[in-house]
Amino acid sequence: MARTPRKSVAQQEATRKQRAEHALQTFLDMLASGEFPQVAAQATILSRASDAPSARWSMGNQTLMIASGTMDARGYRQWQAVGRQVKKGAKAIYITRPNTRTLTEKDEKTGEEVKKTFITGFGFTPVFRVEDTEGEPLPEYDPPTLPPLVDVANVLGVSVKYAPPAGMWRGYYRDDTAEIVLCSHDERTFFHELAHAAHYRLSENAATNNSCKVRKEIIAETAAAALCRLYGYEYGKVHADYLAYFTDGDTQKALREVMRYIGEVRAVLDLLLSTAERTQQTKGEAA
Ligand SMILES: [Zn+2]
Repeated sequence: MARTPRKSVAQQEATRKQRAEHALQTFLDMLASGEFPQVAAQATILSRASDAPSARWSMGNQTLMIASGTMDARGYRQWQAVGRQVKKGAKAIYITRPNTRTLTEKDEKTGEEVKKTFITGFGFTPVFRVEDTEGEPLPEYDPPTLPPLVDVANVLGVSVKYAPPAGMWRGYYRDDTAEIVLCSHDERTFFHELAHAAHYRLSENAATNNSCKVRKEIIAETAAAALCRLYGYEYGKVHADYLAYFTDGDTQKALREVMRYIGEVRAVLDLLLSTAERTQQTKGEAA
């Protein structure tokens, strides 16, 4: 019986590089085509409403999965665990996975031994689309109805005011006075300023509020675009164009910037939606 020849280190390295490039390209293509906010919206809902393992993935990995045309992808054994088999010839999607190493260290103060996990690099894990599996039926995925965002600003300690249109501003958020001023009634402007307020809250909590303007704008607009998709409002301008404005028309740079801050966009969306859910529950209890 012939044994499968083991891949050389150089071959393994080449495969990894190829997968990394493919992942990056998929992501950049979505951003460039303006599809990304839609995907971010779907990923946010998925994380909040599904029990599938992918609900706990990073947004980058969820983007790769959704770009492959599915809302549920799992590893070979994970599918077997729910009574499903991957069909013959199905192509894997490769998601990134951190390689970790756990070290035991002595805490200087208490003298206790503590385990610390470090990320040493990234590898790839193959997963398969639900559409490429067969077997036991899965529980129906039931996306939740979204709570309105109107009361969220108040809960975050931010007041919302309206002002007549002034120059090019459609609205702004001031962190020193904790207020949102809107010169327009469109949802996109409100979502954008609300995202600024949430981002400031998060940065404040993490004591890292030194983010530059470009970073703040990219995060606020990406979150606003995703919220427009989530709530079914018009989002007129292509997201990528708006971002390019903040990077002097350099679309590639804008795309790379979004990738850098994608974790913060997710955190902003999660903060806004969880706050909205809480305010709705409180209202329900009061009624
Ligand atoms: Zn802004």
